[in-house]
Amino acid sequence: MKSSEIRQAFLDFFASKGHQVVASSSLVPHEDPTLLFTNAGMNQFKDVFLGFDKRSYTRAASSQKCVRAGGKHNDLENVGYTARHHTFFEMLGNFSFGDYFKRDAIKYAWELLVDVFKLPADKLWVTVYAEDDEAYDIWTKEIGVPQDRVIRIGDNKGARYASDNFWMMGDTGPCGPCTEIFYDHGEHIWGGPPGSEDEDGDRYIEIWNNVFMQFNRDEAGIMHPLPKPSVDTGMGLERISAVLQHVHANYEIDLFQALIAAAARETSGADMDSPSLRVLADHIRACSFLIADGVIPGNEGRGYVLRRIIRRAIRHGWKLGARSAFFHKMVPDLVTEMGAAYPELASGKQRVMDVLKQEEDRFFATIEHGMAILEAELELMEKTGVMQFNGETAFKLHDTYGFPLDLTADICRERQIVVDSAAFDAAMTRQKEQARAAGKFKMAANLDYDGPATTFHGYETLEAKGNILALYKDG
Ligand code: ATP
Ligand code: MG
Ligand code: MG
Ligand code: MG
Repeated sequence: MKSSEIRQAFLDFFASKGHQVVASSSLVPHEDPTLLFTNAGMNQFKDVFLGFDKRSYTRAASSQKCVRAGGKHNDLENVGYTARHHTFFEMLGNFSFGDYFKRDAIKYAWELLVDVFKLPADKLWVTVYAEDDEAYDIWTKEIGVPQDRVIRIGDNKGARYASDNFWMMGDTGPCGPCTEIFYDHGEHIWGGPPGSEDEDGDRYIEIWNNVFMQFNRDEAGIMHPLPKPSVDTGMGLERISAVLQHVHANYEIDLFQALIAAAARETSGADMDSPSLRVLADHIRACSFLIADGVIPGNEGRGYVLRRIIRRAIRHGWKLGARSAFFHKMVPDLVTEMGAAYPELASGKQRVMDVLKQEEDRFFATIEHGMAILEAELELMEKTGVMQFNGETAFKLHDTYGFPLDLTADICRERQIVVDSAAFDAAMTRQKEQARAAGKFKMAANLDYDGPATTFHGYETLEAKGNILALYKDG
């Protein structure tokens, strides 16, 4: 099955179970300042879960565009390193607004995976929230999953394990215990079952999360019961496609092949297995969909996240030999793959290309010089055995050559080097203070000046930089 057919099969299945199929919402959350980008299918239903909004239906299904590159769910640093993470992905979801609850949610999920998609039941593992005996019993007694493949997992606060069976949309908002379904890709791949010490490996890949929405978490962390227990689920289209297409990494599915080929074509990258090609294939999706939804590269907030992703992409292109704007030339390939499912991408094609090209031209003007400085520093470090990249240099790269801190960190990470971010922050603060002082001085000097007012532009951009720092801090 092609991924487009899998998307459709999911929606058809839930339509046959009385669900209203709802279109994906924008990547830019509608009137929700708590959220940087849409990060799950449930976002557009947040107010329905909270009881503030009512729909004409109590069951819905969707294929939702998601970006996880900032805020509570941030996978930017995983891209290129794991088989399963993207910055942009599609989340297939079914939802119950006070309609069915645990039993039916679990039964539907199992029916789709085992009866419709014909997955071998013995390769599926399940986790439940540690205290959720009800879900545990449904899995083991009603569905019949053997007990050794149903694992209880708690919130794991402060634990070394990544898995967590209490799902939250953000620091506030709807949340609840969840049950997750994992697929075992086989012993030739490193990794342990969920909850084990090696769970970070990519052998057992989480494919589907079923959240039992029961609480609204407020700013103080207090959980208020929702008016009606509800269900919110999310299954990554790329992950289920990998399983159904008998490949391991998401990047091996049909949809990505054309994008990886496009990345190779535009960069003359010879090695088809290069992680850089995968990163480019990932990033062209995030960037194009974000621009199609109205985000433009800038110095703060969403625009700065977009700029950072574009610049990371350009650097990977650079690594593969590109020396002038190339990234935007992958857009037509993306439109061929996904334009039918997301018409806004097809209609926005030219604008997406123009915006990308402009940002590329900007960065290509400074990248060569910046890379030379960076390489020189790394070479020197190699000779002296220093493993921490100078924060002052990172700041200079940021300030003069447009290298966002995370870009420098990403390059360093390839050589197991970390950036001295405290020194970077200090350099940033110092520059900001200097500029403030200069601004005051100018204002004072202007007091008895009766000509046209002098405009001082520096302040605004420096304020923007303050926000950028805040952005790094909350990840
Ligand atoms: P993981 O533990 O693998 O990072 P998650 O627990 O953070 O995933 P959820 O928040 O439960 O993911 O999201 C629901 C589903 O969305 C996941 O089960 C997975 O199939 C998919 N998904 C989540 N993050 C990504 C991503 N970055 N790229 C692709 N698919 C994803
Ligand atoms: Mg995650
Ligand atoms: Mg998980
Ligand atoms: Mg999960």
